[in-house]
Amino acid sequence: MAKLTEIGWEAFSGLALEAKKPYLEREEGDGMPYHTLFAQQFDRALLERLCALANRIRFINKSKEGALYLKNVLAHKRAMLYFSQPSSRTFLSHLAACQILGLTTGSVRDAATSSEFKGESHEDSVRTFSSYFDMIIMRSPEQGLAEKMAWELSNSERPIPILNAGSGKDQHPTQALLDIYTLVRSFETKGGLDGRTVVFCGDLMRGRTVRSLSYLLTNFKGVKQIFVAPQELQVPADVVMVLAKKGVEFEVADDLKSAVKIADAVYMTRIQDEWDESKGASAKIDTSRFKFGAEELALLGKDGIIMHPLPRRDEIATCCDHDPRAMYWRQMRNGMWIRAALIASVFGFEKSIMDCGY
Ligand code: ASP
Repeated sequence: MAKLTEIGWEAFSGLALEAKKPYLEREEGDGMPYHTLFAQQFDRALLERLCALANRIRFINKSKEGALYLKNVLAHKRAMLYFSQPSSRTFLSHLAACQILGLTTGSVRDAATSSEFKGESHEDSVRTFSSYFDMIIMRSPEQGLAEKMAWELSNSERPIPILNAGSGKDQHPTQALLDIYTLVRSFETKGGLDGRTVVFCGDLMRGRTVRSLSYLLTNFKGVKQIFVAPQELQVPADVVMVLAKKGVEFEVADDLKSAVKIADAVYMTRIQDEWDESKGASAKIDTSRFKFGAEELALLGKDGIIMHPLPRRDEIATCCDHDPRAMYWRQMRNGMWIRAALIASVFGFEKSIMDCGY
């Protein structure tokens, strides 16, 4: 249960994201989220705990005995995957994470196949899911919907946790968790993530993964962020304001090659043209200088990594795919482990998994 029963919707929705955090935590007081809605819920200690648990689950799952132990951890729980926006990796990795932990799952992947098509409100749909399931993993084109649903559910007769798997152009907290997990793993034996330079490139205006990851990176010491994009798609003011307020070093730039030369990680993103206000508007923007190919690869340091939340179009040339610095395939698989770690923690199984004999 979260403490959302202690505050009305108007008052809660008006709070700054960081001030919302305590209302979303597990009542047990271990700092873990009950509802996972945005990146501002995670501080460094929590990120380190989740990365450690993901490593542990990954290791335990290697043996048949270990995998069977994990499959029993949440065998008494059911999760609903409610995705009213396209998804491949986020859907499948959450599904696989549930399977690792033994949760039974149900799914709606198209609102047209649910009663929402008959005019049912989101509130009623979600309340329906909570009658049959113990957790809702949801993706929606509507910014803020997951938050509203979390409040509604916490104040209903059957409160269950909500996990935001992508909300509008706004936040994608579990993608940011897997991005951090990937960065932490990549630099684990090379001095860590502190003090690194991360370059974001592409559609930074509408990419929700960028907003969430940019925030999570502020938990690490001296991480510099460079935003490389065409002017029309540059990083939005709210992201820049957070960095300025936190005293994080950042740069807004338009030359990918110069940024790659000093980058430890290059985070490429696709053009998010599904949000175009008029059809074809993005196609008119010159994005030709914001692609990673053989020339950029030659400029990247030997320990540098290339990341992408995927799906990719042509912003990373396929000639980069087999380079050991291309991290996007491993990044995608990391999503399964960190999501398993998060789900296990939401249900209070962090300690028992960490301490189990496998
Ligand atoms: N898969 C990511 C998302 O859902 C990135 C993207 O779609 O470009 O936001």
